Amino acid sequence: MAKTELDHVTKRYTERDGSEIVAVDDVSLTIEDGEFLVLVGPSGCGKSTTLRMVAGLETVTDGEIRLDGRVINDLPARDREIAMVFQSYALYPHMTVRENMAFGLEEATDLSDAEIADRVEGTAEMMDIDRLLDRTPSDLSGGQQQRVALGRAIVRDPAVFLLDEPLSNLDAKLRGQMRTELQRLQADLGTTTIYVTHDQTEAMTMGDRIAILDDGRLQQVGTPLECYHEPANLFVAGFVGEPPMNFFEVDLENGTLVGQQFEYPLSERTLADVRDHDRLVLGVRPEAVELVADAETPRDFRATVDVVEPMGNENTVYLAFDAGDVSETAGASADAETFVVTVSGMRRVEAGQQVVVRIPEDAIHLFDRETGEALHNRELETAEAAPPNF
Ligand code: ADP
Repeated sequence: MAKTELDHVTKRYTERDGSEIVAVDDVSLTIEDGEFLVLVGPSGCGKSTTLRMVAGLETVTDGEIRLDGRVINDLPARDREIAMVFQSYALYPHMTVRENMAFGLEEATDLSDAEIADRVEGTAEMMDIDRLLDRTPSDLSGGQQQRVALGRAIVRDPAVFLLDEPLSNLDAKLRGQMRTELQRLQADLGTTTIYVTHDQTEAMTMGDRIAILDDGRLQQVGTPLECYHEPANLFVAGFVGEPPMNFFEVDLENGTLVGQQFEYPLSERTLADVRDHDRLVLGVRPEAVELVADAETPRDFRATVDVVEPMGNENTVYLAFDAGDVSETAGASADAETFVVTVSGMRRVEAGQQVVVRIPEDAIHLFDRETGEALHNRELETAEAAPPNF
């Protein structure tokens, strides 16, 4: 178990033509002892490079990586007490499961053969792969190979686990099961874990905290719910959440947000957060938008249901702004831009239906259009305010 720190870490690659790629750009991040941190971001944002630097598989161009306060930049991978699990499993094909699991212990420790056998069997039992010990990887399913790869990491009892997209090759159902199992396992073992994925659902559901990267730069570090409800910027707001947050370009004119499709007067309280910014993006999560019976406030506007995707528990509803002046207060224009709303699966919504849309002010996010910085985030119910047995 170990606290892992990245202190202004940068990785630059030089291409053959001499040009430079900054794969990881000045990332500072502390992963606490025993924490499960998920590093998430789109493909190419620098996740694997970050993980490989912690593992010792890549050199660090600038900055420091510390394990429990000790700088490990120049420590060889095998001396780092770190175990890494790859998406490809990377099992030795000619060795049995038992040999695969024992190999690292034989190489890196001075445990006796009997002690190694004991540890391998104990871990295999915990991972429910004990009956596979004498098989080779080619005789195993993808899910079983993944368990072996994890078992091989766990048996080494490392200070830190590094997991690089470990569930990507599994089918959706197995991936769901393994997510839960991995979380339970990590909580039981209490081993500091850095888990890399491009999948925001995986990040949201698994991490104690998530660190979101884009283009080599750290965008936000926080609990999944902080990143979801209090995104630091437009990138995080759009990346976290499925279906994603709706965005509308708006200008602030005399205390009112004026968009192409609707106008939205702001309260003094929200205005105070926006201050002197007037070119903004209004963001609202699909589940925060309400479909109501009648237009009652100057902010309500009419729209037409474009497509409904029934998910069972909920409906994902794509709405198009109505062309023409259908509501006195809406100021709708002819642009048929769509936005997305989720409503209860029990609610009947059909394509072509006209609806009145309400965006509650306590649910809106406002971003600076140029910098993407969040100026105002939605208000959250405090834990004390939530009903006790909901
Ligand atoms: P991710 O894991 O988020 O998909 P990577 O860390 O693999 O991203 O890559 C980050 C960036 O660094 C990408 O632009 C990638 O092309 C580049 N990169 C990664 N490895 C190398 C390398 N060995 N040489 C040159 N560029 C690399």
